[in-house]
Amino acid sequence: MIKSNNPYTQEELYNIEELNEKEINQSIEDADQAFKSWKKTKFSERQKLMLNLAETLESDKKKLAKTITQEMGKPLSQAISEIEKCAWVCEYYTENAESQLADKIIETDAQKSYVSYEPIGVVLAVMPWNYPYWQVFRFLAPQLMAGNVGLLKHASNVMLSAKKIQELVEKAGFPKDVFINLPIKSDQVNKVIQHPKVKAVTLTGSEKAGKAVASEAAKHIKKSVLELGGSNALVVFKDANIDQTLETCVQARFQNTGQSCIAGKRLLIHESLHEEFVDKLITKVKDLKSGDPNDENTFISVMAREDLAEELEKQMQKSVDQGAKIRIGGKRDQAYFEPTILDDVKPGMPVFEEETFGPLLAVTTFKDEKEAIDLVNQSNFGLGVSLFSSDIKAAEDVIVNLEDGAVFINELVKSDPRIPFGGTKTSGYGRELSDDGIMEFINKKTVYIK
Ligand code: NDP
Repeated sequence: MIKSNNPYTQEELYNIEELNEKEINQSIEDADQAFKSWKKTKFSERQKLMLNLAETLESDKKKLAKTITQEMGKPLSQAISEIEKCAWVCEYYTENAESQLADKIIETDAQKSYVSYEPIGVVLAVMPWNYPYWQVFRFLAPQLMAGNVGLLKHASNVMLSAKKIQELVEKAGFPKDVFINLPIKSDQVNKVIQHPKVKAVTLTGSEKAGKAVASEAAKHIKKSVLELGGSNALVVFKDANIDQTLETCVQARFQNTGQSCIAGKRLLIHESLHEEFVDKLITKVKDLKSGDPNDENTFISVMAREDLAEELEKQMQKSVDQGAKIRIGGKRDQAYFEPTILDDVKPGMPVFEEETFGPLLAVTTFKDEKEAIDLVNQSNFGLGVSLFSSDIKAAEDVIVNLEDGAVFINELVKSDPRIPFGGTKTSGYGRELSDDGIMEFINKKTVYIK
């Protein structure tokens, strides 16, 4: 059985039976059958359906957002924004997929030679609970537009959202079985990957889950894309605009109650600004409205599960034992974790080395640019980094020294359908969104005509 409780009220939300092996295999066969005709549909047909999906998301957004809030405690206003972003990614690929996948003519000795971009078939998506809709839609929109079909293994605590997503796809008019939700536990994922009709897998989640899924895919010579954790740095140089930077850092760390792979988790601040900046940050964090996620004015609420809050508490406590100082927050009540600033953080402490997946900001000072770059790169993760400076040229010169998958200047790292998203090092490999994302599960077929 797969069970879940509302993390804010503790009430049981569901207790559902997972699919058995026979049902899983049947779903895979159904998806493969659907692929045979879906891959032949014209872009105009796919565009019409994808636009319907965007419209359905928009019109149902309040209702859909409520489920997110119930399942994982996301404040309602942020849940509504999540649904709006899903509509955006559907619109983006409606407009762009056809040109992104147009044949590429290449001049050779042949009469004609070109690359044709063709779908590969059934792709499995193993997805997390932190953005229950967005994580799925940034897979679903490009892949259905490309002519692939999708299977979803969603996180165990957001199975209602998973079911709703399948219903939305059906309501938009897509043919049956082009997108199938599989209510299964993580120990059944390998069976899906092994199935000959499943061609590839994408996972967003922890390093541990990523390793398990990628090694199973490798065993069967199937492609994988991994979007794993991050420990993004927010680097504040001494010429940064303090007030704007403060605002951006608070958003970067505390939105979604800190549960985001691209959240700015480590604040690296020039030593000359340290005192003033942290004092002002504390005032801002005090003003964040914590409480009931159903209240549209709430900014911080409970974390998605109590065990995740307990894990954050352990990381904080170990770091405090090693010399870090709590400047604000630091207390936990079940799944609620106070917004916390931990100062005097040094490399080697858990809050520096590990991913902190909740509302805790770790503050470390640096003396000069070289030390800042070393601190950024010292992390095993490489998802993204934000640089804050009023000298854009100087900040741009730093980019070449950074190992991350993204660098944002004077802005928090964010995902946007128009630009690629993905990491380096233990943050994973492959890219989502934009042209790169739609190309991940494509047979780039070379055609040569003499
Ligand atoms: P997991 O990585 O365990 O869960 C993510 C998804 O992977 C879920 O669908 C989960 O299913 C599935 N999964 C887990 N283990 C396996 C496995 N061995 N084989 C196949 N699928 C698997 O994340 P948690 O919810 O436990 O969170 C733990 C930590 O992971 C967080 O604190 C955070 O650091 C990181 N994380 C990062 C995310 C990101 O956006 N990059 C998102 C979520 C978490 P099930 O729920 O059934 O276990």
